[in-house]
Amino acid sequence: MKKHNFYAGPSIMSQFTIEETAKAVHNFADMGLSILEISHRSKQFQAVMDETVALFKELLEIPEGYSVLFLGGGASLQFAMVPMNMLSKKAAYLDTGVWASKAIKEAKLFGDVDIVASSKDKNYTYIPKDFVVPADVDYFHYTSNNTIYGTELRKDPEVGARLIADMSSDIFSRPVDISKYDLIYGGAQKNLAPSGVTFVIVKDDALGHVDRPIPTMLDYRTHVKKGSMFNTPPVLPIFSALQTLKYYKQLGGIREIEKMDIAKAETLYNAIDGSKMFVATVPNHEDRSIMNVCFVMKPEYKELEKEFIDFATEKGMVGIKGHRDVGGFRASLYNALPMESVNALVAAMKEFEAKH
Ligand SMILES: *Cc1c(COP(=O)(O)O)cnc(C)c1O
Repeated sequence: MKKHNFYAGPSIMSQFTIEETAKAVHNFADMGLSILEISHRSKQFQAVMDETVALFKELLEIPEGYSVLFLGGGASLQFAMVPMNMLSKKAAYLDTGVWASKAIKEAKLFGDVDIVASSKDKNYTYIPKDFVVPADVDYFHYTSNNTIYGTELRKDPEVGARLIADMSSDIFSRPVDISKYDLIYGGAQKNLAPSGVTFVIVKDDALGHVDRPIPTMLDYRTHVKKGSMFNTPPVLPIFSALQTLKYYKQLGGIREIEKMDIAKAETLYNAIDGSKMFVATVPNHEDRSIMNVCFVMKPEYKELEKEFIDFATEKGMVGIKGHRDVGGFRASLYNALPMESVNALVAAMKEFEAKH
């Protein structure tokens, strides 16, 4: 039987994505060949690339003047590519955790970084609100969903600067007003595809404004010009991404997905808030992620945390151990996770609580 998969990433994929990928591994596009062994220059794969870009744009309602790229290197390479391509003098960053800090570290290699606010004082359990972005920055960068701490900024911020966001772990979980952004990026391995491909949505006229020389492979313009085919792209993850996008369209698009995601998150947060044993690590409801739900046991039950993980594991749940920086538990409720898995976790929590 399939496990209840709460892993934070790589994470659960839709059954549709897995099955269609498996078929293509055996016989891709009736070529009598596996997707693993075909040329990325074949017309069959070019069709996959074209359809993936088109469907990505359609589902996210990406306006004219933007390119969608599928690159290697993970979101972590974007931490450096963004400032290399976009930072002339100074950029503003919001520090909301480990991933944001890693982005800040890379940006400092290319210019001045103004950290406009940080939630480090409370181990990143909230989203800073009252910060001011200086008018003279090249851009403002933030992480929309903080995968490790379970905080999320679900509204496109209004800061009066060019916007750049790492949306690795909440892309396709809410409508985004793309026109407010110069660039959005993310690793695919949370809501889109198996690991190995990184998506980048970039406004074409935001490029070409820095003076430094940029290595060819690290220059967004190279990939815009070549349609992500300058070199060999991650063929298999792109094929899988297309299957996920088809599945999302079948579900009714992002607005429908968002409703399901909110329902799943509410079910779990309500169970945590109503429990005597468990407590959410993010107190402010507005800051709570609908993708990664972090919680711990109250101090008087703390020694039972390990036992609860074993209890949940026996019931077929995987991936609920919290990140080492937070402890306790983290249940990732990505788009592909069915409500049934959330219900199973809630039932396990109630049963465990009754037992003690
Ligand atoms: C997972 C994650 C990353 C890291 O992605 P890689 O593809 O492993 O480099 C970066 N940012 C966020 C918000 C993430 O969740």
